Amino acid sequence: MEVNGNLVMEKKTIASRAHCLVLAYPAQGHINPMIQFSKLLVHEGMKVTLCTTRSFIKKLQNLPPSMSLESISDGFDNGGIQVAESVKAYLDKFSQVGPQTLIELLQNLAQIGYPVDCIIYDALMTWVLDVAKKVGIIGASYLTQNMSVNSIYYHFQLGKIKVPISDEDEILLPSMPKLQKWDLPSFFFNDPTMLKFLVDQFSNIDKADWVLYNSIYELDKEIAEWTTKIWPKFRSVGPNIPSMILDNRIKDDQDYEVAQFKREDCIEWLDNKPKGSVIYVSFGSIVPLNEEQMGEIAYALRDSNHYFLWVVRASEENKLPKDFEKISEKGLIITWCSQLKVLQHEAIACFVTHCGWNSTLETLSLGVPTIAMPQWSDQATNAKYIVDVWKVGIRAPFDDDKKKIVRREALKKCIMEMVDGEQGKEIKKNATQLKKLILEAASVGGSSHGNILEFVNSLQGTTCG
Ligand code: UDP
Repeated sequence: MEVNGNLVMEKKTIASRAHCLVLAYPAQGHINPMIQFSKLLVHEGMKVTLCTTRSFIKKLQNLPPSMSLESISDGFDNGGIQVAESVKAYLDKFSQVGPQTLIELLQNLAQIGYPVDCIIYDALMTWVLDVAKKVGIIGASYLTQNMSVNSIYYHFQLGKIKVPISDEDEILLPSMPKLQKWDLPSFFFNDPTMLKFLVDQFSNIDKADWVLYNSIYELDKEIAEWTTKIWPKFRSVGPNIPSMILDNRIKDDQDYEVAQFKREDCIEWLDNKPKGSVIYVSFGSIVPLNEEQMGEIAYALRDSNHYFLWVVRASEENKLPKDFEKISEKGLIITWCSQLKVLQHEAIACFVTHCGWNSTLETLSLGVPTIAMPQWSDQATNAKYIVDVWKVGIRAPFDDDKKKIVRREALKKCIMEMVDGEQGKEIKKNATQLKKLILEAASVGGSSHGNILEFVNSLQGTTCG
């Protein structure tokens, strides 16, 4: 009887679980945090179906069995954005073709007995909210970038930032430090299509039932407080990175599901290095450096005479100085690694980074101090916060010519300061404190965990299944 009783209970619980369709934009840096967030939702008892485009779905490996996988069309089912004429052509087509295929998917899921209660969508795909409203389900917008970056785009959309912006202009936004031109995302100056795409995230966000963001409340308290006044259901749910580097709450959650490149092993090399002795250098998955900058980094690393581990993607290798050794006692150059495992390694002293938001969340969560070398997109704003607000890194300054190159002497000086200097000690102390704060926020009882529970509980009351 007891067994039967339990069985009945279990079935009932499953039937009444809320069902979320998590719709991710097809790019590594966007889908990975949404998968991580999905794992947390499943952990709290929600049914999750992950969805992305038909061409991108092929890149997904080893999705946890607790999650179902579905796809919609972006109009380029055999190749995605790579086969589109331009970014604009891709985005236009996606917003034309996407809604109908999403509606069909929702209908199919309902027909097979899994009606969707809520769509959590990457804020970049604003049209998803229209679909959610049309079919009468909850729409939760998920912002993948740093809150300060979101706030900049939001205020630009409101007409509160006037362009063109000069070197002398000061940009004053609510609850943010004074910003200057070079603290803004690069798209303000060189890419109107991308600027529009990112700013458009905020065109209908006021109508979303929830606005979730991949960070922690404590990192941007002031902005979070301000924003909650305009979007009452605005909640931090991050950092959405593998549980292994947080509180290990999700079993076997060691690394991301999508890795764009093949990871090379470097842990054995690190194992043979003293604690806190290795400079880790990576510029993420997208940004190309020019040959001159690559040369300056190479010689800064060599001249610093410290150990270094440098990720140079295969497409970048031909820009290395011709005589530069890829493997030596002091340095190892690889094409890709498990960054999480590297940042966790006790041999790492600091991280020379482009300040992509995922790398930033990872390094903050692991308490690794940074040398910021932002290149494009949101990275300059992230760097501003890393250096001036959170004080967990130093910025490698550009040369004062117009080429925007960090010279070898400048980078070497930053490395020496970080490894041996007084400022470096202070920064390490701050990084350790911030790590603790993030861990608390992400763990059971912390701010992000509380927000996730609030979200899940609100949906459990609305199930249509
Ligand atoms: N990454 C990795 N191995 C590497 C370099 C980077 O796994 O050798 C991962 C890193 O952990 C992060 C992502 O790639 O999760 C980079 O994302 P980020 O937002 O920092 O930069 P993007 O690649 O979008 O410019």
